[in-house]
Amino acid sequence: MQQALVNLTSYIDALRSIIYIQHFDFQSVDELIMKSKDEQATTEIYEFNPGKGYVDFFSKRQKGDYSLKEMLSFIEDFEVAEAYIVLKDVHPFLDNPEIISLLKDISLRSMHDEKYNVTIFIVSTKLVIPDELEPFITVFDMPSPGINEIEELIGDFALKQDILIDHDVRGSLAVSFKGLTAFEIIQILNLAYQTGGTVAEEDKSLILKEKEQIIKKSGMIEIVNFKETIEDIGGLDHLKEWLEQKALIFKKLDKAIKFGVDIPKGTLIVGMPGCGKSLTAKATARLFEVPLLRLDVGKLLGKYIGESEDNMRRALKISEAVSPCVLWIDEIEKAFAGIGEGGHEVTSRLFGYFLTWLQEKDSTVFVVATANDISKLPPEFLRKGRFDELFYVDFPEGEERKKIFEIHLKKRNKWSKDIDTIQLINKTEGFSGADIESVVRDVIEKAFINGRDGIDTQDIIEVIEDTKSLSQLLKDRIEEMKKAIEKIDIKPASR
Ligand code: ADP
Repeated sequence: MQQALVNLTSYIDALRSIIYIQHFDFQSVDELIMKSKDEQATTEIYEFNPGKGYVDFFSKRQKGDYSLKEMLSFIEDFEVAEAYIVLKDVHPFLDNPEIISLLKDISLRSMHDEKYNVTIFIVSTKLVIPDELEPFITVFDMPSPGINEIEELIGDFALKQDILIDHDVRGSLAVSFKGLTAFEIIQILNLAYQTGGTVAEEDKSLILKEKEQIIKKSGMIEIVNFKETIEDIGGLDHLKEWLEQKALIFKKLDKAIKFGVDIPKGTLIVGMPGCGKSLTAKATARLFEVPLLRLDVGKLLGKYIGESEDNMRRALKISEAVSPCVLWIDEIEKAFAGIGEGGHEVTSRLFGYFLTWLQEKDSTVFVVATANDISKLPPEFLRKGRFDELFYVDFPEGEERKKIFEIHLKKRNKWSKDIDTIQLINKTEGFSGADIESVVRDVIEKAFINGRDGIDTQDIIEVIEDTKSLSQLLKDRIEEMKKAIEKIDIKPASR
């Protein structure tokens, strides 16, 4: 709350004329506005909502049965003003030219007339930004409470219900609650108290359920179930080593931060299709011992102005609510393609929002972004400091192909020392990991159909010779991709 207050006050002082706060917990927003007013003591507050019209900000009693237009005209008319206007749930009116024009007039006067100092707060569950008002609006993100505040909330709750909640339990619950709003936290505490008569360590399961609910409702993010581990990846040794180091930090984050280590942000893995990028995203979550969330960027794009950014903001907030987690953004180039060359304005803003979030985030969301075609990605993306590291995944070389054969044969209990891996390596230049997996699958199926007991090197060679590898099929595109990769500073994933 303290940091939020500092941020909000700095917006107000910087004469941002319309501050848009998208949130459902109006009480918390009111508290914040009230606190920011304390520092601007002479400020009057006018509140409006579509139900009651003009209401008293403190008592919420109706003061006048005005329409939004009347209310804004009334304030616009002031000769001298030192005021906040708090507009609640007025998003349905933001397509009305008269309302837009009044808001714009008030904003312009606030900027240019020294005697007229009005800050408009639009507090709404939905974010709607009309084109005409875009330059005047600053979107303010209500941060979720920090660990200390959550502990306070739990303490207050215990006091109110007259129950004892152990100090350790408070601390451990607070960590789990992180990412939820004060409103959601109180709801869960109430639920725990009503079912168990107290609040205990076991109530963490309620928190987890709540977080799952949030993800399900969002429709943009899914929790991915998987069984892959880092041992299932053949080759990519550099990348694996790097991830193992980050995992060490991630698993002892509390200590690492106190020691001065930066929280890992994430990685962008670029490269050939079927070479283990998605596999790596999954193995990372396992290695870090956290859930894997997949963000579907295609689902973020909305019809209305501001809707896509709103979706992106919500999706990132959700990932923070579920953190610590790995957030996997698959084929990220598809979402952000074409930016910078007169690309779509919406995707360009989405992208800007994402980059800022990535750069500034202090949450324990580790991003694994994967991309096949780097030529479509805007250069800002590839600059150092955004991600912790960029990795390039190429087609596996000899030793790596051997390892991949071994992994997939072992998975199907068909690995034997008698298999001549030198021959396999020689015959599979340019094969991807996915190609090799498909060869193994076909060999075993064929052997079964032919009533064989096992498989040998010759069986595998036969299938290899019948297989067209991905690098053959996509020859031209792969050349293009390689050229794009040569131009940037990127680490090879393999040794
Ligand atoms: P992409 O790079 O396109 O994301 P995937 O990770 O989805 O490729 O790979 C597809 C499948 O191919 C994987 O599920 C895995 O079975 C196999 N595969 C690809 N690369 C490797 C690898 N390096 N080691 C083992 N299996 C691999």
